[in-house]
Amino acid sequence: MKICILVLDNIKSPHRRKNSHFDGFAYTGLRRIVRDLHKKYTPEYCHVSSIGKYDFVLCTLTSFDDYYNLVYSFEKNKPEKNGCKVIVGGAGVVNINLIYKYIDIAVWGRGENQIVKIIDGEQFDNVWRKEDDPQLKKQYNIRQFVEPAEGNSEFVGCRNRCFYCGYTWHRKSNYSRSGHYKGSETYKQHDMQEDDWNGLNIVSASHYVSALDGLSQDTRFLVNKKITDESIKNKINELYERDFNHRIHLTVYMILGYPWETQKSIAEDWKELESMLVSLDRTEKKMKLNLFLKFTPFNPVPLTPMQYLASSPEINFRKAIGQKHMQCKKYVGRNIHIFFQSPVMGPLRLLEILFCSRAKIEDNENYCKMIFTNRLKQIDRFKAVDFLKTKGIVGKHIYGEITKNQSPFSYLKTYANIEKIATKLSQNKSYKKTVTV
Ligand code: SF4
Repeated sequence: MKICILVLDNIKSPHRRKNSHFDGFAYTGLRRIVRDLHKKYTPEYCHVSSIGKYDFVLCTLTSFDDYYNLVYSFEKNKPEKNGCKVIVGGAGVVNINLIYKYIDIAVWGRGENQIVKIIDGEQFDNVWRKEDDPQLKKQYNIRQFVEPAEGNSEFVGCRNRCFYCGYTWHRKSNYSRSGHYKGSETYKQHDMQEDDWNGLNIVSASHYVSALDGLSQDTRFLVNKKITDESIKNKINELYERDFNHRIHLTVYMILGYPWETQKSIAEDWKELESMLVSLDRTEKKMKLNLFLKFTPFNPVPLTPMQYLASSPEINFRKAIGQKHMQCKKYVGRNIHIFFQSPVMGPLRLLEILFCSRAKIEDNENYCKMIFTNRLKQIDRFKAVDFLKTKGIVGKHIYGEITKNQSPFSYLKTYANIEKIATKLSQNKSYKKTVTV
């Protein structure tokens, strides 16, 4: 049996594999799978153009960018499969409709101690096989924590339940909610410390990462992110009580464009948050804080309570918050400096991600039209979004609100009963899109 690990054309986020190849943190799961494979096989590595020489090809998808890379690799190289079976797995695998035509087997969730059995044909409730279920009529589960992945911490999941977060709703946490919590534990050895705001403990003048994910307290509570304005003030005020010799760097992620937000409401909420942050600036104490804000648009992730809600690729966030350049200083005070960093993604990338989340099998053709139309890269991004919508390349089911019956990923279940909360949110007026552009 000839097995290989697929190395995709790395068009999106090329830096990730260029610098680390499969040694990076994103591939800890894959390394574990490769180790399992070695118990019976000798896997090789191959490019998509030579998959026809193998019986099984394993492809790891850790992010939305990998969906793009997979589609791009197959469409550009048009490989002869010669009966080779393509298996996809990894933390990024959720809705497989967009990549349906290229793959034969999908594995959801943790795959340790499974891969050899999957190749040998054993059936599991987290494994789809095209030959057995070509219409995706059966129900599949996301397999949960089995044992720590290689080089990983024992902590899995999150103690919080933010309604938009795939991480927490796809992975059951393996530790008590009330017990010890330190989000950064998992990432410590990978220079990727990230803590939830309430767990953020700034003890020295170094770099920290956290998230507010909502400009206003009302918005944060609507998405079940229980961070009050008071706790933001307290966290920053506490820093004045300590004597740091150097600047503290704090990167804070912020989601914009929830269904109830508009360009106007974002502008107003940002002004309020900005004034609150500026009011925390003092002149009498020795404390230096660089606050880096990184914005990302709301994306209704499948299998989360917000999965059926609308996103807003038409809102110009940068304009709303007054971000003139990709990176710029917003406020320079005595103790506090506020910077805007490059947004995580623009409207076209959001559409690509929405395709991954919401595509039906037949949407692959339109996705290809979108990613291979060079003209889109030459025109204004918002005009491009408009063009894609008016030409019907991006249908309303991709970016708008959908119902449970319209769900393109109803073949998949997660450990929690999200359906109940998702239905409640869809019926609640507060979660409705207020303006349709
Ligand atoms: S967004 Fe962060 S804090 Fe919220 S549930 Fe997800 S991982 Fe936890």
